[in-house]
This record gives sequence, structure tokens and C-alpha cells, in this order.
Amino acid sequence: MNPLFLGMALLQSLIAINQPLILPEFSQHGFSVHIKREDMLHPLASGNKWRKLKYNIEAFKQSGAKALLTFGGAYSNHLAAVAAWCAQENISCIGIVRGDELAHKPLNPTLEKCQQNGMQLVFVSRAEYAQKEQGKTVHELQRTHVLYLLPEGGTNALAVKGCTEILTPEDANFDAVCCAVGTGGTLAGLANSAADQHIIGFQLVKDATIPARIRTFATRENWSLVQHAAYKGYAQADAQLVAFATYVLQQTGILLDPIYTAPMLFQLVQMIRDNTWTFGTKILLIHTGGTQAIEGFNSKYARQWPSI
Ligand SMILES: *Cc1c(COP(=O)(O)O)cnc(C)c1O
Repeated sequence: MNPLFLGMALLQSLIAINQPLILPEFSQHGFSVHIKREDMLHPLASGNKWRKLKYNIEAFKQSGAKALLTFGGAYSNHLAAVAAWCAQENISCIGIVRGDELAHKPLNPTLEKCQQNGMQLVFVSRAEYAQKEQGKTVHELQRTHVLYLLPEGGTNALAVKGCTEILTPEDANFDAVCCAVGTGGTLAGLANSAADQHIIGFQLVKDATIPARIRTFATRENWSLVQHAAYKGYAQADAQLVAFATYVLQQTGILLDPIYTAPMLFQLVQMIRDNTWTFGTKILLIHTGGTQAIEGFNSKYARQWPSI
């Protein structure tokens, strides 16, 4: 992509198209479902990670910091997005990666791309990673570098502000808007900007602190969380989910990611089938991106996640 495009895109609000999601499971039950193609905003800095970076990159430029430092796991969409965006804007960036054992292994496709984009990767133990900004590596780096710190998953108030730009006035017609939840920043942005409709977050990480964290950013009570039950958990996509993503791609031409969007749609279909869905029949799903992780996923789990 021409760097100019992203530079210009920074200055304006981008709008993703809503595509009808035609599956027999929906029409049989009288549902009308669309999917907002936020995944098309940018090939690497895609989806909600693009939204979350927009105002943070502006703040970075105003801060006088010399480098942006952030955190992520080995297949992190957030690290991929930060590295891609920083490369285009010529910003130095450092990624603190969870797991010091990775330092001695060949880089997976996500981290390799981060490195190619100029991100300095620093691997830390899981214990230190859990300390985030308080970890000793971050403190050491801060002694020699003026850093702009971006939390894990990119979620802070500016990220939530960016996510308020996902919905447009035309989306007011939907009864329900659905997104996958990691840290909940995207959900908070959607809730704050929604019309008179309900936001449903499919929570994929078992973490009891997430509702409280969402409440620090969400100013309204128009949202609910659905816990992921039908599926083994974050990043553990089983054969059933791989088959489901393959089916969705064949039926709709839309590629979902294994960690967030496929589990969300899988569970939505399940709830509609089981008659446990109570949020209305006109549904908008947010495709938050994440397809960059497929290559690494396939090599790690020896799965055949589809691709286009
Ligand atoms: C990070 C991510 C999410 C979760 O976003 P949060 O704001 O952290 O809840 C959902 N989908 C994809 C594809 C992501 O990369």
C-alpha cells in the first residue's frame, strides 16, 4: 500500500462496508445478519487494532517520545498492527513479547513480520510479562529511551475513542451489534457510540476482571457479555471450529480468524439454533480482523485453517 494512503487515512474517519452474511442457519430462523468489514481497513494493521492505534499514534507524535513500546503474545494482532503502522510512519517501536523461551526459537510468521517492519522484539518471562509497565525490562529501557507506552491489546482511553468511529448513523437500524472481546476496549467504544441498540461482546478469555475494565471506559449500560462455552478457549481452535470457518468461507467468501471472529460467529449460530439468543433478529457483526495470525496458527497447531 502506498504510505500516503494511510497517512491520509489518519486524518479522516474510515468507514467499512456492511456485507450481508448469508447462511441458511440465519434465514431459517428469520434472522438478518450483516458483517462490518473492518478487517479490510488495512492488510496488517487491520480491524479494531487500526481503530485503537489512530489516536494513540497522534498522541505519540505530540508526546515527544522517541519510541513506542507495547506488549503482546507471540501471535498478537496488536503487535502486528503496531509494527506495520510504525513502519509506515517511520516510528521506532519496541514489542515486549510474552515468553522468554521464544527468544531461542525461529520467529513465527507474526513476529517475523513485526521484525521486518522494524519492531525491536524483547522477550520476557511470563512472570515479568504479567507485570507489564512495572517489569524490569521496561524500567531499564525507560532509563535510556523516552518511551510512549501502549498497554496490551492497545486498550486505553484513546483506543476506545478510536473504536467509537466503527459504527455509523446507518447502523442504527440493527437491533444488536456483536464483537469479540479480548480486553473489551472495542466493546466499550461500540457501546459509547451505539444508537438505541444493544452491544453483545463474546468474551473469549476467561478473566473475571473484564466487566470492571469495560466499565472504566464504557459510559452506558447498553452492553452484555456472552461467555464462550461451546469452545475450548482462547487460541485452542479445535477441528470443529476449523470446519466451521471453512464452511463460512465457502458460503460467504468471508475469511474469519481463529481466535476472535470465528468463535464469535460459531457461538452466535449455536445460540440461534438453541433459541437462547434474546437480542433481536437484525444483527451486525464486527469483523475485527486478525487474519494475519492464520499462518502462525496453522504451523503451531498443525491445523488447516482456510485462507484466501
Ligand atoms: C484484539 C482483537 C479483538 C479484541 O479486541 P479488544 O478491544 O481487546 O476486546 C477482537 N478481534 C480481533 C481480530 C482482535 O485482534
